Amino acid sequence: MRKKIVAGNWKMNLNTKEAKKLIKGIAKYTEKHKKDLGCKVIIAPSFTNLTVAKKQASGTGIKVAAQNMHQEDNGAYTGEISADMLKSIKVRKVILGHSERRQYFGETDELLAQKVRKAVDAGFQVIFCNGETLEQRKDGSYFNVVTEQTQKALFGLSAEEMKKVVIAYEPVWAIGTGETATADQAQEIHAHLRKILADQYGQEVADSVSILYGGSVKPANAQEIFSKPDVDGGLIGGAALKAEDFIEIIKACN
Ligand code: PEP
Repeated sequence: MRKKIVAGNWKMNLNTKEAKKLIKGIAKYTEKHKKDLGCKVIIAPSFTNLTVAKKQASGTGIKVAAQNMHQEDNGAYTGEISADMLKSIKVRKVILGHSERRQYFGETDELLAQKVRKAVDAGFQVIFCNGETLEQRKDGSYFNVVTEQTQKALFGLSAEEMKKVVIAYEPVWAIGTGETATADQAQEIHAHLRKILADQYGQEVADSVSILYGGSVKPANAQEIFSKPDVDGGLIGGAALKAEDFIEIIKACN
């Protein structure tokens, strides 16, 4: 059965001191509730904070993911980070396809298919993001958009590989805007994603993939969104930067 997950995407925020403090704050809750946590808790700090985060999070029930990685093993790719580099600091989870990577760094579905392949081959758990822009929501093409993003980047995987992937549906118009998809809007897309997974891989695989919602999730709306049957938790941006808020969201996922 699929797992419930609350993952925090810290983006380009927090220096090392601040990162340690935030992990300590979150750990106050996760350590106490390690046995009865209703969801898996993941944080995705910047590359420079990964080593410190791994150390600080050790034994607290908090897992650590990277926000991105390169599709090649090594070479002349100034400023990039490889799967092997992440593995060497024991990071085995990675967010791929975040809309900010697509929008500001030109990441395409084709490139993401390569990154997904590399990450899966290297033994990573991939948190793959998809989601439509406001324009695509308004013109009604959003089902096609998320379908295509998912098919192009993920459907090269085998059924066994697909089972280990986490999908995060993140409508671009709801990221960092304070505007959230309604719980029904989230459910509608999540059910659609599960259906295309079932069509491609069968129901067993579709039922084992966690599908998270992301886009201005906060303590006030988390419970309602997470109550939907195909919403298996959240990918959280802004609210993941405050321990109290993130803890409230973890509680809402129980
Ligand atoms: C995100 O960046 O993945 C995100 C969901 O951000 P926010 O929660 O701030 O909208």
